[in-house]
Amino acid sequence: MTSSSIAHSPAVSQVQVALGLRSYEILIGADLIAGAGAILKDMIKNPRVAIVTDENVAALHLNGLQNSLTEAGIQFSTFVFPPGESSKSIASYSDLMNRLLDSRIQRDEALIALGGGVIGDLTGFAASTLRRGVDFIQIPTTLLSQVDSSVGGKTGINAPQGKNLIGAFYQPRLVLADISALDTLPPREVLAGYAEVVKYGLLGDYEIFEWLELNGKKVIEGDAAARIYAVEQSVKAKARIVAKDEREGGVRALLNLGHTFGHALEAETGYGPHLNHGEAVAIGMIMAAELSASLGYLDRQDCGRIRAHFKSLGLPVRVPDIAGVNWNAEKLLAHMRQDKKISGGKITLILMKAIGDTFITKTIEEADILSLLQQELK
Ligand code: NAD
Ligand code: MG
Repeated sequence: MTSSSIAHSPAVSQVQVALGLRSYEILIGADLIAGAGAILKDMIKNPRVAIVTDENVAALHLNGLQNSLTEAGIQFSTFVFPPGESSKSIASYSDLMNRLLDSRIQRDEALIALGGGVIGDLTGFAASTLRRGVDFIQIPTTLLSQVDSSVGGKTGINAPQGKNLIGAFYQPRLVLADISALDTLPPREVLAGYAEVVKYGLLGDYEIFEWLELNGKKVIEGDAAARIYAVEQSVKAKARIVAKDEREGGVRALLNLGHTFGHALEAETGYGPHLNHGEAVAIGMIMAAELSASLGYLDRQDCGRIRAHFKSLGLPVRVPDIAGVNWNAEKLLAHMRQDKKISGGKITLILMKAIGDTFITKTIEEADILSLLQQELK
């Protein structure tokens, strides 16, 4: 199969991220890893590439990728990291750079990120700095990375001082979102990614939300057509926003709906295993909706509708009991003040006027945020 025959097969959706010379395609469909060699052959400059992945993904999907590259006559070297956020460290970055340079990688060779957001962020940042920038290709294998982190060009690693503090805006050359890869994803990771899917509906597209109310269960349970549609609508929404505001000077901040609250919850739980990012963002979106309703921006009924949808799919709507965590509104507010989105002394929030209609505001009084937090922690 040639890249154009794959791209034009009816089962594959194609979305463009329009960024002038840095524009790229996102292909969404089944079995794209198996077809990756044929797709990449026509676009890479050198028939040698470097694959970066983690141990979990390597065990499940690396052979498929390697076989398809071999069939297409593409040579590769492979670099495998332990799974988890700890691989987005300065140490992993340094290790990857050393190993890539030891392998005598050339400027015209591409890096392929095969994995979730951790591998995508690490590989993208490595690509942005290796020999002042080499091509990179995203093959996201989690729902979160397919709908969010692989698109938009934010790459980076964590510093001891905080998450994502070292990084670059660096766009991939191509994104292959193989929804077949999601078949091996643990259900909790699927749900975490789904929180970001529903976010796109809430922040800017009522039709997406309405579709999810009817089909969200299918997306969660693994229906291929529903997953392709959900990923396609999500990346279209993200691509539209990124095309308007690549470096988050304005509208891109809307993508942070639920995130200022969510980051505070994550910080309070020490980014531990009891609350993952998607879960924190889900609760954060409920908090944003409740605050919007209590300030009179959002209809109470819409707020209830959002809550009902989350509940029906098993997304959390309130903070869980976690041993050692003493939920406290003042402490959460303090975390929100630390969030990087703060400016001019006021906390920046994304609030809702309706399902599908959000706005960025820096005028909300801390007293209002505090009483909302108190109410939600009750
Ligand atoms: P992840 O990369 O840690 O993947 C989650 C888990 O799933 C890991 O254990 C991984 O090994 C496993 N896994 C991945 N694919 C699998 C598959 N197909 N089958 C079975 N297991 C699989 O986490 P994530 O949720 O994908 O990404 C989170 C990261 O993304 C965070 O570091 C976050 O900061 C970053 N992020 C970046 C952006 C951005 O714009 N760059 C946006 C959102 C999040
Ligand atoms: Mg997020």
